[in-house]
Amino acid sequence: MTQHRHKAHEDRPHRHHYDAEMLSVEEARDRILSYFSQLEPEETELVDALDMVLAEDLTAPFDVPPLANSAMDGYAVVSSDLASASETSAVELPVAFSIAAGQIPESDLSSGSVARIMTGAPVPDGADAVVPFEDTDELERRKNGSGNEDRIGINLAAEPGDNVRVAGEDIARGELVLRSGTLLRPGAIGVAASLGRASVQAYRRPIVAIISTGDELLSPGEPHQAGKIYNSNAYSVAAEVKRYGGVPLMSGIARDTIESLQERLAEALETADMVVTSAGVSKGDYDVVKDVLAKNGEIALWSVRMRPAKPLAFGTLDGPGGRKVPHLGLPGNPVSAMVAFEQFGRPAIHTMMGRNLQQKPSVHVVLDDPVNNYDGRRVYARVFVYRDEDGTLRARSTGTQSSGALTSMAVANGLAICPDDVSKIDAGETAVVEMLDWPEDVFSGFGHTTGA
Ligand code: AMP
Ligand code: MG
Repeated sequence: MTQHRHKAHEDRPHRHHYDAEMLSVEEARDRILSYFSQLEPEETELVDALDMVLAEDLTAPFDVPPLANSAMDGYAVVSSDLASASETSAVELPVAFSIAAGQIPESDLSSGSVARIMTGAPVPDGADAVVPFEDTDELERRKNGSGNEDRIGINLAAEPGDNVRVAGEDIARGELVLRSGTLLRPGAIGVAASLGRASVQAYRRPIVAIISTGDELLSPGEPHQAGKIYNSNAYSVAAEVKRYGGVPLMSGIARDTIESLQERLAEALETADMVVTSAGVSKGDYDVVKDVLAKNGEIALWSVRMRPAKPLAFGTLDGPGGRKVPHLGLPGNPVSAMVAFEQFGRPAIHTMMGRNLQQKPSVHVVLDDPVNNYDGRRVYARVFVYRDEDGTLRARSTGTQSSGALTSMAVANGLAICPDDVSKIDAGETAVVEMLDWPEDVFSGFGHTTGA
């Protein structure tokens, strides 16, 4: 939050009072995360290890590159042979042999001769520099087909070391290259491969079972029926699980009966590291969901000081063998389910994967549309963030902020925050936006046409 923003709201007449029973987002998140810890490491194929956390130290068993090699296609030379070479006066020398990448030179290079060499090929002993083709008469000789390709004219004096990559330039043998705890981003995965590893120990991905509850739900793919709605929550939440590195387990729809939910739960608990349900968690309503969950473990129903997604359930379920499986009960409204998952499911997945808990990346933007706060909760308003012609980051509303209107989420790339003690942020004022997508879509301008 900027100085500027604070100032802008200092003298607002209308301040809300906290509901003592409500948890702040941070309090709810802290309580939830106290139930999670890093899962065990697992040998993981490198191609599957993106965004996982390394669970071993990787030390180099050899130099990378293994030998001094050429940075260019050209000629390996003894630089002192070329002292008099220039653009106007070439030094002509015999080509003793040639070396392709992956070959070991057939002999040392002696003064008074050169070796044709390809990028990445080992520089022969005796040579101390490489002159690229562009600085020789290579092309002319080939064009003329004069048949005297066993000699070459060089138009450039070379310094020792020119265009030579020394052995171990990148990684020295014995070096600790990647420490346990490193996040395996693409570059780190490449480095592991360059050490010859096809797999590494990494903290495994959690299996997140997703159960939707409700008699009104149809599965996508089923014929449409009047009065029913399709189960979108399972799909949006599964996509969030995947995005944050977990493995979604589609555990289907539980009807509003004890048997149905128990059946779905039993199946999910076989393998799940975490169970996510949607709907049936509002306080006050009679709901079979709460009863069944309570019978199969512990459940607490919370009100979280946020909008959308005030009702939230959290507890544990009794898995096979006495295993306690954390359970996150999301609200049923489609936007609420997604926003609650961003705030509570995402950090749970990251904790299980051994990733540091980080806030979602956020930016300060100028609002095109006001964000209203009616009842003293932290508002997460769906917005589209873009850069205007002046390079300023701005955000416009993606439309109705009803927690049932999922399209507002589909076009949003961020959630603009109105703090719980601020009743409104006006258009033209600054707000913090937690980004849902980061960062290319914000900066490419691609979204200008997809925003509302
Ligand atoms: P509830 O929490 O059961 O009161 O549900 C709140 C709203 O979310 C209702 O309009 C439900 O129809 C809707 N809803 C519940 N579950 C889902 C789901 N899986 N997919 C889409 N909408 C849902
Ligand atoms: Mg319901």
